[in-house]
Amino acid sequence: TAEQIVRLRQSLAQEKGIELALDAPSPLSLTGDQERIKQLLAILLDNALAYTPSGGRVRVAVTAEHTSNGMVRTAVVCVEDTGIGIPLEDQERIFERFYRVEAARTRAVGGTGIGLAIARWIVEAHKGMIEVQSDPGTGSTFTVRLPVRK
Ligand code: ATP
Repeated sequence: TAEQIVRLRQSLAQEKGIELALDAPSPLSLTGDQERIKQLLAILLDNALAYTPSGGRVRVAVTAEHTSNGMVRTAVVCVEDTGIGIPLEDQERIFERFYRVEAARTRAVGGTGIGLAIARWIVEAHKGMIEVQSDPGTGSTFTVRLPVRK
């Protein structure tokens, strides 16, 4: 799934001068509503590409967490960028509908502010978690944790 989404964005990234990489040591199938999961990855990846200037890097990493008996318990997807970042005071609110960070740089990028609200809704529907870590001027990392059905 992640592979497909990343592949579809490769030419866009290239046009924008952004290096886009996928890090998925062993292909892990994300369980759940496949269309929704693709939409979730697309939202995070499109944001990373939109809010990262030319010359930057975007990395999608998929890893698995295991239980003590070796079964996969949680899939962890990180979408990491070297973009404009998100001020701390906005980090909670970006998951709200229609919320956009008021930076001039953000405003140069069109958008309605609905993407991350949908992303959070999809994650919650799968009983997962989504969080952001970000430093303005350095970049952002969105981490999604999804339980894997057995
Ligand atoms: P759209 O819904 O049309 O994609 P959007 O990108 O503005 O519009 P969200 O995806 O909900 O909407 O994002 C909300 C806000 O969070 C954005 O307007 C932007 O300010 C900030 N944001 C989201 N992702 C990033 C990122 N990777 N780097 C920096 N800022 C981000």
